Amino acid sequence: MKRGYVYLIGAGPGDPGLMTIKGLECLSRADVVIYDYLANPQFLEQAPQAELIYVGKRKGLHHYPQEQINRLLLEKAGAGKVVARLKGGDPYIFGRGGEEAMALAEAGIPFEIVPGVTSAVAAAAYAGIPMTHRDCTTTLGFATGHEDPAKKLSSLDWEKLSTAVGTLVFYMGIANLENICSQLIAHGRPPETPVALVRWATTPKQQTLTGTLADIVNIVRETDFKPPALIFVGDVVKYRDSLRWFDNRPLFGKRILVTRSRAQATDFCNSLQALGAEPVCCPMIEIVSPESMADLDAAIDVLPDADYLILTSANAVEAFFGRLDELGRDARAVTGLKLVTVGPKTAETLTAYGLKPDMIPADYRAEGLVEMLEGQVAGKTVIYPKAELARDVIPTQLAAAGATVIDPVAYRSVVPEDAETCLQQALAEGLDLLTFTASSTVRNLVALLDEAQLAEVAKLPIASIGPLTSRTAEEAGLPVAIEPEDYTIDAMLAAMVEYFKATNREQTEQGV
Ligand code: SAH
Repeated sequence: MKRGYVYLIGAGPGDPGLMTIKGLECLSRADVVIYDYLANPQFLEQAPQAELIYVGKRKGLHHYPQEQINRLLLEKAGAGKVVARLKGGDPYIFGRGGEEAMALAEAGIPFEIVPGVTSAVAAAAYAGIPMTHRDCTTTLGFATGHEDPAKKLSSLDWEKLSTAVGTLVFYMGIANLENICSQLIAHGRPPETPVALVRWATTPKQQTLTGTLADIVNIVRETDFKPPALIFVGDVVKYRDSLRWFDNRPLFGKRILVTRSRAQATDFCNSLQALGAEPVCCPMIEIVSPESMADLDAAIDVLPDADYLILTSANAVEAFFGRLDELGRDARAVTGLKLVTVGPKTAETLTAYGLKPDMIPADYRAEGLVEMLEGQVAGKTVIYPKAELARDVIPTQLAAAGATVIDPVAYRSVVPEDAETCLQQALAEGLDLLTFTASSTVRNLVALLDEAQLAEVAKLPIASIGPLTSRTAEEAGLPVAIEPEDYTIDAMLAAMVEYFKATNREQTEQGV
């Protein structure tokens, strides 16, 4: 029989990049994953093979009792399973990992501890607070701020703790903040000692409040600041003003709807994240094959006699070369043809097939492409694998310029099955901006909304990649606030940054 084994894994503070490589490896090996409220659920994708059991906080319900978690570990490991017990931060810091390991040790079940980046270390880094600094402190302490209200005596020795170390960090202390501050002051910490509270550290929801032991309680009262958060006490907090880097990025904390197809959204989402935003991926299109391949196959047959191959999107490149591959052919099938792409992004996709375009228009649109080719295609054969609902600018105008245009449908776009659920959830959770990179995504999104929702969405800022998409949006009743001069994702990102810079400035001027 397979022997049971348990990995107690620290999942880090929230940013998925802060999980260890070892932790990920253990997850991919697990039969069962038992996870917490504070462990980023994104990691579960590492364990598609595993049974997933959530033992964290549930709305309106009590915590899963610790004894029950211990029992679950023993039961699963006892049945010979490899169990990954995923815990927020580090398992041995205020996570009751010690108790879980003890239960395993007593039952003779082998286990391993995979440390994680504890939230205090991570929050300090992401809030710009060096926890030790030669100019103000060389000592540091972690404490729990959670005290059983029923307990008469505090489990913390305030007399010793208050002045023992320079920087003090409290976990689980928000509900008890007033008591913590007054105890520290009563036991010798100056009331003007800087304090920072950091909530949902390392995530796009990170929020930081700063003040002093004397006034932080009032500052918290004026805001709606809730756990999970850490309390940093000490002079090092003052460095935050100069060392902030995470929560002052240009799109920090903005929830931005991404409507492009999943296959194309990755780079865009990564760039959004790098600018501090929280991309909310709700693909409004999915690219699928045409119902019949007959036209595309016929076009592939005439390649040897053709002169130009026009590709106006990454999807067209994928569909065309994908089909060649299915037919047992490769890029040599386009030898001798002039390769034309509508813009640099499409060209980039082409390089994956070992090919470079011969021509790219200065204006990355069908109109620009026609203008570039008009004077040279008379008497030539042009192959243009297109989308099912593509505009007819290219075929009509090139035919008018004397070309024989063969324009098979190479792909079509459909609305993904889960689009509606995804969109409704995104709207319910709130959005700061919607992005559209094609007219079809606008149309598909609008079709999923009722009138009242459309009116709500129309109040949100909307970014569109170019004039055609903008026109579709505006005709559907969605005013476009952001449209870049260049019709590229990078230009659109830059325009979004400018937009939020300007609105933040306006808000500051109005004292919002
Ligand atoms: N083992 C965890 C701590 C668990 S105790 C660790 O090493 O981080 C739970 C407390 O951790 C919360 O009440 C809060 O104080 C802190 N915490 C965990 N994740 C946090 C985060 N992303 N931001 C701020 N505080 C966090």
